[in-house]
Amino acid sequence: MATDYSIYIHIPFCVCKCRYCDFYSVPQSSDSFFLLDRYIDALAKEWKFYEDNGILEGVSVDTIYIGGGTPSMLCADMWSKLDDALFSRIDKTMIREWSVECNPDSFTIEKARMYADSGVTRLTFGVQSLNPKELSICGRAHSTDQAMRALSDSRLFELFNSIAVDIIYALPGQTVNSLDNTLSCILSISHISHLSAYELTIAEGTPFGRHEKNLKLPDDDTVTEMYELIGKRCAERGIDQYEISNYARPGFESIHNKAYWSHKPYIGLGASAHSYIHPNRWSNIADIERYVSLISANKAARDFEEILDPLELSREMIFLGLRNIDGIDENKYIDSTGLIFCTDNRQKYLQKFIDSGLLKKTLSKWIPTSKGMLFADMMARELAE
Ligand code: SF4
Repeated sequence: MATDYSIYIHIPFCVCKCRYCDFYSVPQSSDSFFLLDRYIDALAKEWKFYEDNGILEGVSVDTIYIGGGTPSMLCADMWSKLDDALFSRIDKTMIREWSVECNPDSFTIEKARMYADSGVTRLTFGVQSLNPKELSICGRAHSTDQAMRALSDSRLFELFNSIAVDIIYALPGQTVNSLDNTLSCILSISHISHLSAYELTIAEGTPFGRHEKNLKLPDDDTVTEMYELIGKRCAERGIDQYEISNYARPGFESIHNKAYWSHKPYIGLGASAHSYIHPNRWSNIADIERYVSLISANKAARDFEEILDPLELSREMIFLGLRNIDGIDENKYIDSTGLIFCTDNRQKYLQKFIDSGLLKKTLSKWIPTSKGMLFADMMARELAE
């Protein structure tokens, strides 16, 4: 029987760099077109490397996710090139979900038609906020109007199975009210089936990181109130929380993300992309030029590689399980790690978390409550051995 794999394809080009962003991507320049052209050749070559080395034998591609960066920056010619050079080599017959990340400023309905013609099933829009001031503080390239125009186009519903939106909360200057306005505009669009709401993290080396003390960040109580508001507004629209930052209509949960969280195999193509085929995990170098040169010279473009040992796997299964409603499956934990989950030490903490309403126990699973997901890091620390 074939093994299901997920494929991630990284497009590390953006219109400009957002002030909070520490993903690997470079702002557009006069060289971008030529670099992108070579980059697409390298992506196809990297895929061929996996084919030639037998890594894709007996593999069935289950999900594809094209992320970035800003994949919707690709013009029609570049998308066609990607289609001919890379997508045409992938057997798409068993794909259950194929997502493309889009930013409102570079998205057009013509591009959406092109994605759908290639087989894309799901678009995910990086909106972050619909408040003009918050968008400007974040350095986003799009306006509130552009975002609303892109999201509310009813043709999206005809072209794709699922439309997803990403927002960020706990932004500088953001209030519970302004978040509520953003949520109410997004959730009033009936074809939106998925919302990712990420709490802002201030990353070192970003403009936000360098000027953190000048940012008017909401305090912890306000951030908790924002988290609760997101859950409440989604629930009012029949959109359920299934992970600390993810909400979906039943049946519209991201299959690709769930594959990451459950340690299913995935291959990442492109600069800075990560891959995992148990027990091996590796990432590519975060440098477009070097990635292209190495791949073009038939060399691996790896930055780091490791073998996931049972203890590390145990830590990750606990950490990820406490952040999503699938929880920690004790049987799966024992099968995967060969370790005992309910040690005497852990039993004591597990009971404490149940008593404080952070955790529920079913037959073989330990499942966090919505409040519990907010304390996932603390619980994971206590349960680490
Ligand atoms: S568009 Fe996305 S990837 Fe690009 S800089 Fe902004 S947050 Fe980062």
